[in-house]
Amino acid sequence: MAFETIPKPEDVRASAALTDEIRAHFTWENARAMLAGLPGGKLNIAHEALDAQVAAGHGGAPAMTWLGKDGTRREFTYEDLRAQTARFANVLYAHGLGVGDRLYGLMGREAELYIAALGTLKAGLVFSPLFSAFGPEPIRTRMEIGEAKALVTTASIYKRKVAPWWRDLPSLKAIFIVGDEAPEGCVALGPAMAAASPDFAPVPMDPEDTALIHFTSGTTGKPKGAVHVHGAVAYHAMTGRFALEMAPGRRYWCTADPGWVTGTSYGIIAPLVNRVHMLVDEADFDLDRWYSTLQTEKIEIWYTAPTAIRMMMRAGDAAAAPYDFSALRFLASVGEPLNPEAVVWGKRVFGRPFHDNWWQTETGGIVIANTQAMDIKPGSMGKPLPGQVAGIVERDGDGVRECKEGEIGELALRPGWPSMMRAYLHEQARYDKCFVGGWYLTGDLAMRDADGYFWFVGRADDLIKTSGHLIGPFEVESALIEHEAVAEAGVIGLPDETAGEIVRAYVCLNPGFEPSEELEKSIRGLARRKLGPAVAPREVVFRNTLPKTRSGKIMRRLLKARELGLPEGDISTLESDES
Ligand code: AMP
Repeated sequence: MAFETIPKPEDVRASAALTDEIRAHFTWENARAMLAGLPGGKLNIAHEALDAQVAAGHGGAPAMTWLGKDGTRREFTYEDLRAQTARFANVLYAHGLGVGDRLYGLMGREAELYIAALGTLKAGLVFSPLFSAFGPEPIRTRMEIGEAKALVTTASIYKRKVAPWWRDLPSLKAIFIVGDEAPEGCVALGPAMAAASPDFAPVPMDPEDTALIHFTSGTTGKPKGAVHVHGAVAYHAMTGRFALEMAPGRRYWCTADPGWVTGTSYGIIAPLVNRVHMLVDEADFDLDRWYSTLQTEKIEIWYTAPTAIRMMMRAGDAAAAPYDFSALRFLASVGEPLNPEAVVWGKRVFGRPFHDNWWQTETGGIVIANTQAMDIKPGSMGKPLPGQVAGIVERDGDGVRECKEGEIGELALRPGWPSMMRAYLHEQARYDKCFVGGWYLTGDLAMRDADGYFWFVGRADDLIKTSGHLIGPFEVESALIEHEAVAEAGVIGLPDETAGEIVRAYVCLNPGFEPSEELEKSIRGLARRKLGPAVAPREVVFRNTLPKTRSGKIMRRLLKARELGLPEGDISTLESDES
């Protein structure tokens, strides 16, 4: 079924942050001019987010409303967050940590996580968020790669996922535990914060100094640590305004978890830099809770994701009918393909369509978007933001060839925007491989139409997106073969109506083991314990053999094609040993 373009009503066009005029006159200097900066060309993300806002007289403005799972409500002004993050920075220094050290955050959407992230940046340390639903193995791998110096977590996560192994990580000097008590060897954050001074001048950083490391999955090998710098904040400021309509005082809700890049770039940095009033809900998705939060908190800008939207759609229009969504002025979605039906459904139920936008961990911020001032073509990710040049290319020997309108190829970007990753930690060759012929290759397949709109087609590699989480099949396969019965494993994503894709594993058994329901349960159980439920396969299927290349690499795409009943010819030739 074809979907008609949704034109913007004139009143919205006039009030939209990104007009054609701004697009035409945009420069990176203009974007950087949005920042306060520090003397000598230095800056600090936390200074932009908090201290500069307070210095400009906005200390009393609401910065964050935090809703606890249990109904608790906490309000923070910009001055509250400035002081709390200063205390946190002082605590870090008091424990012997300093500029450039890497601190990992591992907890759900607790207010302390937001304070820790910004306090870390304020102190000149590097912040690396971890998804709290990860099991011990992905946590350990990422902390080892990044030579973690410090960790902030909760007592319960510490006990279940960190306590058994952290003493084997020689780099780790301090573990901070939220609350008033801490297990032996750890620091209780409550008393430490209370004893610390609420004053700390943000450390002046070079715009190219590392601020954040976001881990993302690769198809092969270990996860990659994408390095992002303090200067990225110019891009967060600009895209918050242009792609998400942020403006001082607007009530904004980003439902993404700060364990992933969206929850940091647009769940912490962009909103505060744009002085919005952000809402943080500790609880996970719950239909009535979400609808009543939109109504009661009078949310104006809502940044969410397709899996959640599909769950809302499944509940039907009637479930939304009792609520008043009239405060909403802009709805956006990211992370997975947004079904065209969902765009139209948003307009019907919330009075506004969802605006899809596209980006990835490596880009640090939104690159392609449906902005408020654009007509929406449901199903399209939109157009490149100002300063971005996007193309569709095909790899051609050592270079690339640009594809024609309507032709499917790999989505490519001209490097150079402020929030682009600067490296994969310790992996120069892997980083260099992303750049060909002056383009950064994204790993996504897409198409550009005659009007310059981009359409997502799929991944060019084997990465899996399940409920918005990017999963590397290799990490899952590695955990599966640790089961005594498993000889080899191939992991793929299969289409799923709600989650986008679900993780399915195919395993061959070692001699002496027979397929059984019990064994399937035991293999899945081990994967859940090691990887966590968000990453572990939903299904494990027994096979006598798995399709392989000549050098013995499992051909995941062929496995998937067989499963989906697709023609195999093209796929098997595509799947070289090098891919
Ligand atoms: P991550 O690095 O975990 O944020 O995942 C980035 C990947 O998610 C992209 O490379 C895409 O494959 C996918 N993705 C992000 N946004 C969209 C979107 N709007 N439509 C389709 N896929 C998307």
